[in-house]
Amino acid sequence: MDKQVVALLDKYSVTPRTRAFLEKEKRHYINGQFLVGQDMMPVLEPCTGGQLAEVPSGSSRDIDAAVGAANHAFRQGEWSTWTPAQRERVLMKLADLVEDNLQTLSEIESLDAGKAIEGCKAVDMGGSIDLLRYMAGWATKIDGATRPVSAPGEHFAYTLKEPVGVIGAIVPWNWPFNMAIWKLAAPLAAGCTVVLKPAQLTPLSMLFFAELCDEAGLPPGVVNVVTGRGSTIGNDLVAHPGINKVSFTGSTEVGITVGKAAVENVNHMTLELGGKSPMLVFEDADIQRVVDATQQSIYFNTGQVCSGGSRLYVQRAIYEDTVRAIAERASAMVIGDTLDPATEMGPAISAGQKDTVMNYIAIGKQEGARLVCGGEDPGGEGYFLQPTLFADCDNSMRIVQEEIFGPVLVAIPFDTEEQAITLANDNIYGLAASIFTRDISRAHRLIPQLESGTVWVNTHDMIDANTPFGGVKKSGIGKDLGPEQLNHFLETKAVWIAL
Ligand code: NDP
Repeated sequence: MDKQVVALLDKYSVTPRTRAFLEKEKRHYINGQFLVGQDMMPVLEPCTGGQLAEVPSGSSRDIDAAVGAANHAFRQGEWSTWTPAQRERVLMKLADLVEDNLQTLSEIESLDAGKAIEGCKAVDMGGSIDLLRYMAGWATKIDGATRPVSAPGEHFAYTLKEPVGVIGAIVPWNWPFNMAIWKLAAPLAAGCTVVLKPAQLTPLSMLFFAELCDEAGLPPGVVNVVTGRGSTIGNDLVAHPGINKVSFTGSTEVGITVGKAAVENVNHMTLELGGKSPMLVFEDADIQRVVDATQQSIYFNTGQVCSGGSRLYVQRAIYEDTVRAIAERASAMVIGDTLDPATEMGPAISAGQKDTVMNYIAIGKQEGARLVCGGEDPGGEGYFLQPTLFADCDNSMRIVQEEIFGPVLVAIPFDTEEQAITLANDNIYGLAASIFTRDISRAHRLIPQLESGTVWVNTHDMIDANTPFGGVKKSGIGKDLGPEQLNHFLETKAVWIAL
């Protein structure tokens, strides 16, 4: 660990377990064992750019071993004999263990992913605990149906819901722990087994979670965590003949590659991909709610939010007031060390991601957008950015059409409802959208017209274990969360009995 990172651990008095975890050798978690990697790769801390840890850079042999273990656990191992109530109990236990280790897990995640710690506790960890408990409840409620049939003769027909099998799960770096729990809770409730590959930039919280799986008494091979690069082992995992479903969250570009591999194996797939979500603000809106929504989406998590409200369309009468109010709040955000409880916004995940965002800011200036706040490089150590707002954009600009994945909001005025819908739908993505109005009829009129997996009214980026989340258009296929997600991990078998 580099000395500037050790200084952070000292300054914020991290828990003994955080320190012990960071100091120990990191290993893959395969078949219930912590296995040494052949090669290692560094993990950096984004506030300082210093080295935080080293983790194994896995190989196709590691993926083979993990998929083999997951298959054994699913087909012949102890897991295959567990009752639904046993699965429920172990998921509850995992939720309790995450809760017991909330501070430690949040510290590890903040250091690894550049997350402001209070937001991380509430959203990343709180949401994960809720989801584990929610899916635990479903384990005992999976049922089929009796089907009256009209075929000649006397028959009793019914459907059985069975787990899909072995899941290959791949997650991005913006919600390393939370997205991984999104990928684990539902399949475990359904009775599947999982091989999970975290993003190479943020593998640590899942390796800590592996320790909790062990502590919870999960049978060997049910959850396997293999760290390494997407272009090598990610590819090996999604193309592996031993898996039955790919559950992927990440960019649309990589999602298409992953989807092709799933089709080659005739596997199920869920793809949660990119977004460029519009916020439509009408002249009767409560501007403070719009400001709050920007804080909980495009300026939360340094704007590295797939569903973040990144395109702001405001009816002309309140356009300038709204832009001003958002800029005032954004400019006052506390930016700093992620372990400091006062911090509202941490750094970007990496030097590369910071460059990408700064490059988009330069493009926005060249395209002629009006820079209202932010946009400068704060300099210094680490990968910090400023909350940025461009006004008077045009819908054809690259900063309006492309996913920036940083704290950059673009604003455009409109006059009529029809214009607002046309502007909102004029994008390849369809992950989420929001409408701000006090007119309930208008809200209901517009909800069906938005090409979007989720629509929020007078808020943005609200997520709950019981509401499905997933995009349309280039934002993906399938849903995470809710009973809809559980169904993606179940096959329906038709049974006929001649009486
Ligand atoms: P990437 O698509 O680059 O990576 C996502 C994951 O895929 C990583 O684990 C990566 O590994 C892995 N990967 C990379 N190449 C391959 C490959 N050829 N085969 C298999 N796996 C591969 O996305 P980012 O990590 O940059 O995450 C940001 C993206 O995620 C944004 O587009 C964002 O919108 C989207 N996202 C979508 C969400 C949703 O629910 N719709 C939620 C959160 C994020 P490695 O890290 O080693 O490269």
